[in-house]
Amino acid sequence: MKLFDENWTPLLMDWFDTHKRDLPWRTDSPRDPYKVWVSEIMLQQTRVEAVKAYYTNWMEHFPDIPTLASAKEDDVVRQWQGLGYYSRARNLHTAVREVMETYGGRVPETREEIRRLKGIGDYTAGAVLSMAYGKRETAVDGNVLRVFARIYNIEENILSAKVKKEITALVRVRQDAARPGDFNEALMDLGATVCIPGQPRCEVCPLSSVCKAKAAGKEAEIPLRVKKKEVPVEPVTVFVMRAGELYLLHRRPSKGLLAGMWEFPNCVGEGGQGKKALTAELAAIGVRVEEVSGPVKQIRHVFSHKVWQMSVYEARAAKDVISPLVVPSGWRWVPVTELADFNLAGPHNRILRDVDELTTK
Ligand code: SF4
Repeated sequence: MKLFDENWTPLLMDWFDTHKRDLPWRTDSPRDPYKVWVSEIMLQQTRVEAVKAYYTNWMEHFPDIPTLASAKEDDVVRQWQGLGYYSRARNLHTAVREVMETYGGRVPETREEIRRLKGIGDYTAGAVLSMAYGKRETAVDGNVLRVFARIYNIEENILSAKVKKEITALVRVRQDAARPGDFNEALMDLGATVCIPGQPRCEVCPLSSVCKAKAAGKEAEIPLRVKKKEVPVEPVTVFVMRAGELYLLHRRPSKGLLAGMWEFPNCVGEGGQGKKALTAELAAIGVRVEEVSGPVKQIRHVFSHKVWQMSVYEARAAKDVISPLVVPSGWRWVPVTELADFNLAGPHNRILRDVDELTTK
């Protein structure tokens, strides 16, 4: 890959100084590494506009590392509710505890140390080190790859490790040595507002005079798009299971998808087969299903690696389970008024919101 001769960094920095986005995590000077860290973790797979309110709320609850480190996990996950990908919140919680124990509450300043913290990858490490500590570190994500692929007219798959490595080297060469954090943020802003996916806004771009893709008329074709893999759809049968005024909840295993969160009883399967299988599973824990009606709701929940197509039924337990209400560990009968206090997994939280039997209580 050949380096472009012209040094376009000043063009980008001048543009950033007048067009920088006004974001709640950019208000301090110097920047607080904890705040940069939280915002970058929230921004993974979530849009900036959606993150703003969550970030503000989070900082009200957990304004600094000691407060977050001493918080209960349930509270941490509750404040994350709605953002999805809950492992991000759990990893952040684990990592700030490690910062307290190992680094006396101060986020480490070297890439090697910060990368050892749970949930911090190359990109987040570079963002925190450059923005909060002024280190000359790169932060290369999909936005930066796209912008660089266009500036240098790179007609290769930007998701390949080889191209990513080459682009990272180019970023390092062009990075403003005096303002490395601002340079990284300038690239983020350019990628988010001007050099956007699809049809970029070259007419307002500070780099249009030096951009090779634009010169070649290929700005909309680059970067090379790699087709996304289709994710499998898994049918799931869910019972909103009632005994008198109580509802049955189950806690998911402490590892794996939606780890440790609560859910309504469910199993993989659909239609008559799904109902039969779930009825048998509940019988095995001593809950005899007397009546099932519905489905009252169909919910489609998309994960990165699969889709749950959920058929939600209302179900009633036979009278003989109402007293005594004994269920094995990991299961709980809960009054309807307390359901919202449980950390329900995202798709099950939607059931709580959407199913009439529950919302009309
Ligand atoms: S000129 Fe167009 S394609 Fe090139 S960097 Fe600017 S917005 Fe992107």
